[in-house]
Amino acid sequence: PESLSPQKQSAETSTHDGRVPVLLPLPFAGAFEYRSAIALQPGDIVAVPLGRKDIFGCVWDRESTVPAYMAPPPVPPVDERRLKAVIRRLEVSPLPQELRHFIEWVAAYTLNPPGLVLATALKQHTQLPPKAVLGWVRTEKPLDDVRLTPARQSVLQALGDEPKSSAFLAHESGASTAVIRGLAGTGLIKEAPLLVGASFAQPQPDYAQPALSEEQEDVAQGLRSMVAAERFAVALLEGVTGSGKTEVYFEAVAACLRRGQQVLVLLPEIALSTQWTERFRRRFGVEPALWHSDLGQKRRRETWFAVADGSAKVIVGARSALFLPFETIGLIIVDEEHETSFKQEEGVTYHGRDMAVVRGRLAKAPVILVSATPSLETLANADAGRYQHFLLTSRHGGARLPDVTLLDLREDGPARGQFLAPRLCAAVKETLAAGEQAMLFLNRRGYAPLTLCRTCGHRMQCPNCTTWLVEHRNRGILTCHHCGHTEGIPKACPECDQEETLVPIGPGIERVTEEARECFPEARILVMSSDTLGSAAATAEAVRQITDGEVDLIIGTQIVAKGWHFPRLTLVGVVDSDLGLGGGDLRAAERTVQLLHQVAGRAGRAERPGRVMLQSYVTEHPVMEALASHDFEAFIEQETAQRKPGFWPPYGRLAALIISADSADVADSLAAEIARVAPVQDGIQVLGPAPAPLSVLRGRHRRRLLLKTVRGLAVQPIVRDWLSHVKAKGSARIDVDVDPISF
Ligand code: ADP
Ligand code: ZN
Repeated sequence: PESLSPQKQSAETSTHDGRVPVLLPLPFAGAFEYRSAIALQPGDIVAVPLGRKDIFGCVWDRESTVPAYMAPPPVPPVDERRLKAVIRRLEVSPLPQELRHFIEWVAAYTLNPPGLVLATALKQHTQLPPKAVLGWVRTEKPLDDVRLTPARQSVLQALGDEPKSSAFLAHESGASTAVIRGLAGTGLIKEAPLLVGASFAQPQPDYAQPALSEEQEDVAQGLRSMVAAERFAVALLEGVTGSGKTEVYFEAVAACLRRGQQVLVLLPEIALSTQWTERFRRRFGVEPALWHSDLGQKRRRETWFAVADGSAKVIVGARSALFLPFETIGLIIVDEEHETSFKQEEGVTYHGRDMAVVRGRLAKAPVILVSATPSLETLANADAGRYQHFLLTSRHGGARLPDVTLLDLREDGPARGQFLAPRLCAAVKETLAAGEQAMLFLNRRGYAPLTLCRTCGHRMQCPNCTTWLVEHRNRGILTCHHCGHTEGIPKACPECDQEETLVPIGPGIERVTEEARECFPEARILVMSSDTLGSAAATAEAVRQITDGEVDLIIGTQIVAKGWHFPRLTLVGVVDSDLGLGGGDLRAAERTVQLLHQVAGRAGRAERPGRVMLQSYVTEHPVMEALASHDFEAFIEQETAQRKPGFWPPYGRLAALIISADSADVADSLAAEIARVAPVQDGIQVLGPAPAPLSVLRGRHRRRLLLKTVRGLAVQPIVRDWLSHVKAKGSARIDVDVDPISF
C-alpha cells in the first residue's frame, strides 16, 4: 500500500528491508527493532507487540540528525530470531520528518528518553494522531485497462487533484457509493486522507493595516526581510510596554501569510489571550487556530489535522504547540520570551523559548523573540551578534511611560495589621475620584501565607512539603500550594492546644481585598487570580468589565501582569515589591524586574498618563532603582558583573540533578554516591549536594547537585557519562534538569 501521508514524502529510503526501528512512547533509551512484511516509512504510526501487550509507536529514522556530541549511545541491535513483527499500520497521518528530528533533538538536549518526548507529542491529540477521514483520488493506472460505465466515468470526472469524499463524489456525479467502491476495485481510484482542516478560515494579510510610526515601520521592515529570506535566523524584538510590539510583529505574520507559509506564535498563558486573539481578528479578519490544554477533543483533532495539511495558517499556542506536525513553518514568534512559564518543569523539562529556536533551525525559518524585559540569555545572544536586535523606544501615540515612585515602608509604612501605605491609599482615592481605574498587585493567592500560634510560636506547615500552609479564608481552609494538601482552620493550636491563638501573618490577595473594601467602600472591586477566574470565559468577562468601565479597582495576582491593555487604568500599586527577592536564587532579581516592569506597564497606556507605586523595604536595591528609573541597562550590567566571573548562565552552562527518595537517608546516600563520582575536568564545577529548593515535596526528600561548565562545554555528554556510573534503586530517583530556571 502507498503511504497515506498528505505530505510530500522526501526521498527517504523505505525501511522495507525486513526490519524497522519503532520508537515507543515509553522511557526506553531508543527505538526498538521490529520485523515488517509491509513497506513502512519513517513517521508511520504502527501497532507492535511489547511483552504481552500491543502498543502504538512511530516508525523511526535510522540516521540521527542530532549533533554527535549530544546524541545518546546507539542501542545494541537485537538478535534476528528474537525480532517481533509489526502488527499493522494505522490509518492516521504520519509524523513529518521535521517533527521527528525535533523530537530527537529535544530528547538529546534535555537528556530525556526520546520515547518520552514522543509521548508528549502524541498525548496532545489524545494518545494518537487522529484517524484520517478518507476520501478518494485517482491512481496512475491507465484508463484503457478498465471498462468504464457512464456512471463510473462521471465519478472520475468529479475527481480532482485533492481527495474528495464519497458523499461529495456521489453528489457531484449522481452515482451511488456502490459505483465508487466498484471503481476502487478496478484500481483506478484509491483512498487518501481528506483535507479536513478547511474549518479554519484563512487570515487575510491585508485585512486591516495599521498606520505604523516611522520607528515601528523600520522594525517591521527588518522583520519582513527576515521572513522573505526563508532562512533560520533569530531576532530579539525589544520595546517598552505599549510600544506596539504586537502590532509590529503582526507585519511579519502578514509577510509570512503572503508567502503561503504557516506561523506559530507562542504565548506564555494562552488561556489569558482573549485580548490578543481579538486584536488578531481585527488585523487579519479571522480568529487564529488555538492550541492549549483546555481545547476539547474534537477541536484538538481538527487542529492537528489542519496544522498537518497546512490549512491552519496561524497557530497560537502554549509551548506544547511546538510538537504539532507543521507542513511548512515560515515563522515562529515567542511573545514575552522572558516568561518563566515557558519552562516545562514536570516530566520532560524543556524551555519552550529555547526549543522554539531549535524548531526554527530545523524548519529553516526565522524566530522572533519579543519582550519589554528580555531574559539575560537572549540579551547575551543579541550582544554576541548571534541574534539580530530590534528596538522600539517609545510608547505608541505619544503615551508616556508611567512615573514610578518607590514607597519606603521603613519610613512611611501602613498601620499595624494593614498592608497599604497611607500614600498608596491616597493615590488610589485620587484616581478613583478622577473617574479612573486603579490596580493593586500582589503575587500571592489566599488570605495569609503563614498561620502562627501567638502563644507557642507553632507554624502551620504542610505534612508533605517544606512549606507553610496558606490560609484561604473565602474557602475556610489551609492549603499547600505545592501538593494541594488541604485541612480546615483549627480552632486551637495543634501544638499547645490554646484556643484562638492562631493568627494570620503577612498578606495574601484576599487580605488586601478585605483592607481595600474598608479603605475604599464606594469602589467597585474586581479580584483577578486563578482562584476567582476559573475559566477562559470568566477571564474574558472580567476583561470586558474592566474595559467597559464597570470596575474601579482591580486587585490581582500575576494574572494581571500579562499583556493586558486597559485604557482607563492609570494607577498601579505593588503591595510587596520585595516578595520575589528572597530565597537565594541568583535569578530572583532578574525575575522580579521582569514581573514588576510588566505590571507597571499596565498603567497609562492610553491618553491619560499613568503612575506606579512600589511598596518596598529595600528601596535602595538595584531592582527598585532600575524600575524607578526605567534604566535597565545599569541593572543588566550589574547582573552581568555578578554572573560572569562565576560562569553562571548565560555565561556558562548549568544542569541540575535532583535526587529524590521517600526517606532523607536514602536521598542523602544516593546524593553522596553521585557526588563521589562527579566529573573532574577543566571548565567544570560541581556544586552540592545540598537540599533542593523545596527539600521535601509531596513527601519526597530532595537533594540537588549542580553541574556548571564554561560556555564552550556542553553539559549533556558530561551528565550522561556521569550518570552511567550510578543507579537509583528502590524509591530513589534522579531527575535531570538542563538549564534549570532557578539556581
Ligand atoms: P506592546 O506589545 O509593545 O505592549 P501593543 O502592541 O500592545 O504594545 O500596543 C499598545 C497599544 O497601542 C495597543 O492598543 C495597540 O493597538 C496600539 N498601537 C500600537 N501601534 C499602533 C499603530 N501603529 N496604530 C494604531 N494603534 C497602535
Ligand atoms: Zn504540600
